[in-house]
Amino acid sequence: MQTPGVHHVTAIASDPQANVDFYTGVLGLRLVKRTVNFDDTRTYHLYYGDAVGTPGTVLTFFPFEGGQPGSVGRGQASATAFVIPDGSVEFWVDHLESDGLAVEAPVERFGETVVPFEDRDGQPLELVTGESDIEPWADGPVPAEHAIRGFHGVTLDSLSPDATGALLESMGFEHVAEAGQRTRYEADGERATAVDVLDRPAGDRGRQGAGTVHHVALRAPDTETQMDWRAKLLEQDQRVTEQKNRQYFHSIYFRESGGVLVEVATDPPGFTRDESVDELGSGLKLPPWLEPDRETIATNLADIEAPAPAETER
Ligand code: ZN
Repeated sequence: MQTPGVHHVTAIASDPQANVDFYTGVLGLRLVKRTVNFDDTRTYHLYYGDAVGTPGTVLTFFPFEGGQPGSVGRGQASATAFVIPDGSVEFWVDHLESDGLAVEAPVERFGETVVPFEDRDGQPLELVTGESDIEPWADGPVPAEHAIRGFHGVTLDSLSPDATGALLESMGFEHVAEAGQRTRYEADGERATAVDVLDRPAGDRGRQGAGTVHHVALRAPDTETQMDWRAKLLEQDQRVTEQKNRQYFHSIYFRESGGVLVEVATDPPGFTRDESVDELGSGLKLPPWLEPDRETIATNLADIEAPAPAETER
């Protein structure tokens, strides 16, 4: 098993419109798909990423209206990090503060500058200076020279850091650095390659709810490779689900020993399978098996408005 890195991260939010406004309007990501949670069609599943939703750029949300806040802690993915250019730290601190967000002072970590902040539901996010092969979304509200360039990676606040590290190494990550309670594992890929594992034995356990990560997905090149990996994970006594069709990728899931729900998702077919690049995110998309229920599903969802690209330019 040799994953090139993170495919997507899925988190929980409360209000869907506030979620759209923050991730498109403040962070400048593109809403690349609006669909529903295939396992709970009363809830949206909103995807934000670069212009086309390249694997390694996509943060997705289940916004449960009026959902109870969770708490971030052990047994969860505890931070999601995006790449920004080296000279953009000052821009982002000003930009986030001008939107009324509390931004912590930037910190140095493994030779990179990290700007920690939280979204409207209290979900921990980070902007990390560094390299990425991702071109920022040109039509977003953030000037392209400063815009987010996909994921840097994630932090896992593991209940069992050694076991989580061993799992990552078995999937092709390399142990590259250690500082205090943090160990960095790095995948051999072009983006979204950093997974940090925390060792905080005295820390509080997390509780799932708005403002917490639901799962982290790692990339697999195709469904055949994914099935090979599934067999290898079963050999490691991971309780892996069957392969599921998520319309834009195929998925398997397992909860690793550190408490984090991990998905392995295929790169193909991607988000342009049912919308053109220009149309991405503009309409409610449903998989064929839910189309017969479109009217009921749409009636049960709150209306959300995502600004068309031209309207978001400042
Ligand atoms: Zn997922």
